[in-house]
Amino acid sequence: MISVNNLEKSFGDHKVLDGITENIEKGEKVVIIGPSGSGKSTFLRCLNLLEQPTGGSIIFEGTDITDSKADIDSLRRKMGMVFQQFNLFPHLTVKENIKLAPVKLKLMSKEEADKKALELLKRVGLPDKADAYPKQLSGGQQQRIAIARALAMNPDVMLFDEPTSALDPEMVGEVLQLMKELAEDGMTMVVVTHEMGFAREVATRVLFMDGGIIAEQNNPEEFFEHPKNLRLQEFLSQVL
Ligand code: ADP
Ligand code: MG
Repeated sequence: MISVNNLEKSFGDHKVLDGITENIEKGEKVVIIGPSGSGKSTFLRCLNLLEQPTGGSIIFEGTDITDSKADIDSLRRKMGMVFQQFNLFPHLTVKENIKLAPVKLKLMSKEEADKKALELLKRVGLPDKADAYPKQLSGGQQQRIAIARALAMNPDVMLFDEPTSALDPEMVGEVLQLMKELAEDGMTMVVVTHEMGFAREVATRVLFMDGGIIAEQNNPEEFFEHPKNLRLQEFLSQVL
């Protein structure tokens, strides 16, 4: 589904991604861990061109999205993204947040988007919050709405950048549970997280990023039980 070839990203003369080559298959759940500043967010943001790569290529569903002629809007439609800071529009209700993109991009009529929004609200366990405003919701509820909003576009892959890092501890579980359900439904997912339990339970593959490269990757059992890279051993001893 996604084929990344020797991806590089520099900010000025600071090389943040230093040649990443990686293939992500349909249905995979790839979890990315690594120290702060190792390039995890930049990697995710390059996948949907929130950042423009400075080298290498990314092929998504057969299209080279790093080609200057690529249609960025149609790419973003197929890649849902969920951020640490929910990024809901504060002046719109929950339902309006969910409907906004599909209606604006004319993918659905207002009536269809309405129906879809209510379906999604049920799916994320918040059917009675359609007319609430984001600030009336808890952090965990807001993040579940942000996930519903991303799903409204019927994406082929969901990218999550530390979706539970801004939450109070008691709200982490409800968001991870929803992500787990999405995984069980077959969604292709790329998840940056510090939740090692989630990685062990849900990931088909875990990647360790360090200094702009993927320093190690494996299935979760091998990755956590027999890490080879010294920096990964050190990292795991700090977080586990
Ligand atoms: P991580 O998500 O693993 O913590 P990031 O991808 O956010 O790491 O950042 C990797 C490095 O790139 C950091 O040193 C950060 O300061 C730098 N960086 C990220 N975004 C920008 C930007 N827009 N401009 C300049 N430097 C940036
Ligand atoms: Mg980050």
